[in-house]
Amino acid sequence: MSPDFLENLAATVGQANLLTSHDDRVPFDTDWRGVLNGRSLGVVRPSSVEEVANIVRLCAANSIGIVPQGGNTGMCGGATPDSSAQQIVVSLTRIRAIRELDTSSNCMTVEAGLSLAEAQMAATGKGLMMPLSIASEGSATIGGAISTNAGGVNVLRYGNMRDLTLGIEAVLADGTIWSDLKKLHKDNTGYDLKQLFIGGEGTLGIVTAACIKLHHPPSSRLTFLAGIESVESALAGLDDIRGRFGNIVESWELFSDVSAKLLMQNCGYEKLPVQASHPWYLLGELALHGDGDEDIWAERLVEMADRMRCDDIILATSQSQRESLWAIRENISEAERTQGKGIKHDVSVPAGSIPELITSVLDGFEMRFADCRINIFGHVGDGNLHINAIPRETGHHIKADTAAAISELVYDASAALGGSFSAEHGIGSMKTAQMAKYKRAPALNMMRQIKSAFDPMGIFNPGKMLP
Ligand SMILES: Cc1cc2nc3c(=O)[nH]c(=O)nc-3n(C[C@H](O)[C@H](O)[C@H](O)COP(=O)(O)OP(=O)(O)OC[C@H]3O[C@@H](n4cnc5c(N)ncnc54)[C@H](O)[C@@H]3O)c2cc1C
Repeated sequence: MSPDFLENLAATVGQANLLTSHDDRVPFDTDWRGVLNGRSLGVVRPSSVEEVANIVRLCAANSIGIVPQGGNTGMCGGATPDSSAQQIVVSLTRIRAIRELDTSSNCMTVEAGLSLAEAQMAATGKGLMMPLSIASEGSATIGGAISTNAGGVNVLRYGNMRDLTLGIEAVLADGTIWSDLKKLHKDNTGYDLKQLFIGGEGTLGIVTAACIKLHHPPSSRLTFLAGIESVESALAGLDDIRGRFGNIVESWELFSDVSAKLLMQNCGYEKLPVQASHPWYLLGELALHGDGDEDIWAERLVEMADRMRCDDIILATSQSQRESLWAIRENISEAERTQGKGIKHDVSVPAGSIPELITSVLDGFEMRFADCRINIFGHVGDGNLHINAIPRETGHHIKADTAAAISELVYDASAALGGSFSAEHGIGSMKTAQMAKYKRAPALNMMRQIKSAFDPMGIFNPGKMLP
């Protein structure tokens, strides 16, 4: 590294936007859970795409690794530098303009550092909807959501970030600004290169802007919470609604009785708003377009409940009731955190295999791991479950060897059913061992070839994603 490297960086972004002191760096060098503590050489906060390109050129010339960072809400350490003090964090949060909101083509062109919540609000202001919805949307950015191919609670109807991204702009390893901000739904002109950056976790370049698909919001939503006896019931209810009314299901969120008990123990809930306790709960939301007669829908839901063998279901009748039903689902992570340091898994299997996955994880679990409980919740409609282990006693920690054995159990069970060990959170630095174990060799080889074609010096997010 040349002696004037940091000086040149400061000249590029302005001294105030190069953070090198320990206190200034810590929020960027640490992941949001405080589990990973990296040590960067500095944090740069560019304000334009040209500044990003200059930073990349400077880092390339000095063989300095670049860790792109958005809202720093990622789940697997992708945005955290290593501890070598040889990497620069490039925070995109100052590059946040809405370049265009095109109501005739239903899309918006926005910069990478804009938060998802701000993008949603801008779309709503024009009578449209940016549907990607995750609990971290106040801080998570467009660039981060693209780079992790974020999913969330609306994937069933609108797809994940890959489905919502029409075009991107990115800075490549030699500092080239590659602009492919097309608004096209159809473009069969060779390899679809943007797909490599979606879910690329900052290993191929820095996403600086994107063109995002927008949808018309439903005229009303129907939100309900049902207490159910089995996971099969949740799948039967989904099949019933889709079979009768088509693609109107926005969310189909399942959580277990363990989640309910954690909410009561740790988040001040006296009981859930249904009448009784059940092994499982289903939070469903339907998007209605001009067909919102509540009485008719109440009848339709009764038919669905019959199919699910459920007689304990509550329908939200106001926006505030809807919000309090959603708060139950969104508070589960907080309830787990209060319980103690556990271990999280974000797996997916074909939706029909979910009951088998749960059985194979829970079978004999308590005998093997007496100090832990499994808490299951997630986006059951698209086969994505969070199968988390938490300490039985509040405030306790799960020991490292126990955590490793539980993870192996969950990942092996998912793999045996043709599933994935990372459904929507990505790989980062925390799941590279699983990448080596579960990803087939030909796939890993192709990925390594792509990495070396795009980033021959390996400056983008070293040590992340690829084992
Ligand atoms: C409470 C909570 C709930 C969550 N729920 C969900 C959920 O339901 N579904 C889901 O999918 N995720 C969820 N997440 C995970 C996280 O919010 C998403 O992964 C989000 O997309 C990350 O965005 P970010 O801007 O914070 O990215 P960061 O955490 O800053 O970065 C994530 C990765 O993307 C890279 N990156 C960031 N910006 C860029 C860029 N501009 N160019 C290139 N690479 C970049 C980073 O290097 C890193 O590898 C949740 C997180 C929290 C804290």
